[in-house]
Amino acid sequence: ESYEGVVSENQKLHNEIQELKGNIRVYCRIRPFLPGQKERQSTVDYIGENGELIVVNPAKPGKESRRSFKYNKVYGPHATQAEVYGDIQQLVQSVLDGYNVCIFAYGQTGSGKTYTMSGPDKGSQEEWGVNYRALNDLFRISQSRSTYKYEVGVQMVEIYNEQVRDLLANDQTLGILSTASLAVPDANMHEVSEPSDVMRIMEIGFKNRARSTTAMNERSSRSHSVVTIHVHGTDLKNGGSLNAGLHLVDLAGSERIDRAEVVGDRLKEAQHINKSLAALGDVIFSLSQKSPHVPFRNSKLTQLLQASLGGQAKTLMLVQLNPEAASYAESLSTLKFAERVSGVELGPARSCK
Ligand code: ADP
Repeated sequence: ESYEGVVSENQKLHNEIQELKGNIRVYCRIRPFLPGQKERQSTVDYIGENGELIVVNPAKPGKESRRSFKYNKVYGPHATQAEVYGDIQQLVQSVLDGYNVCIFAYGQTGSGKTYTMSGPDKGSQEEWGVNYRALNDLFRISQSRSTYKYEVGVQMVEIYNEQVRDLLANDQTLGILSTASLAVPDANMHEVSEPSDVMRIMEIGFKNRARSTTAMNERSSRSHSVVTIHVHGTDLKNGGSLNAGLHLVDLAGSERIDRAEVVGDRLKEAQHINKSLAALGDVIFSLSQKSPHVPFRNSKLTQLLQASLGGQAKTLMLVQLNPEAASYAESLSTLKFAERVSGVELGPARSCK
């Protein structure tokens, strides 16, 4: 490829990133059928190259059940972790230029949110998810720049039943969160000073998360986990400094819980999840409508993410889908949520090959 070609490709990406400021971008990823899964009728009927997606209800495969959606990108079941991260990398790297960025994964439990954000348990480097790749990338690039001196720090918290817990401390519940800064007040910040710190810090956090999960029966799918990567840069030539960062969020499962079927703790959890996901949707929707009042205060999640949503910040929503026929209704509600926050209208399925 010619030098000009590379430059104009970079310029194109640069322009795309500039456009993203204050807007939300939506990528949709469909996970593969899992080994041993018997039923392989997919709800996904068509994936276009430009982000088109058509889903159908395999139980009623008529015209009525076909719905078409359009996002910034759609990944089929064969997309690799590297491919997905390749489309996110520029966004992540813009943190070093002073932008705040929020990347969150949304979808029902089992749709691949954790796979995309973290990768499989004990996965190889090839299987690393966005968290590891982003932290690694930011650390690596920050070390290689000669005009800036950067410090990179990491925080990890979990929000469960509207309570925020520091995953890098021993079971510490955090208080008030309202803040204009990206860093989570009072949460431990672990500095990354060599590449091996990336794995080490993430492991402490995820181990802490796993511990609460086993104790409370799959709690991880009912809590939000937020990895914050904070960057402080000092301009060595001209003086001055910048503070910016990245929120990487693995949201609680978005599935609707049948109120008639759950009671007690389970009902309380479901109500908290519904409330916080609805609050996130409302915040992004009002940002997209340029509404003068943005309801950040309605949930801990939106309070915590405030600095990386709207304004000069850049937001990416990773919509996860489980292709199984039995998940059709949940997938449809996930796609509608994404559509609402991206501000794109729902249309009837267009004809396609
Ligand atoms: P969630 O976090 O949404 O509950 P998981 O990330 O745990 O879902 O995914 C559910 C299962 O599917 C896991 O066993 C995971 O390893 C697998 N999985 C998800 N996405 C992929 C993918 N793109 N490729 C291979 N396996 C995947």
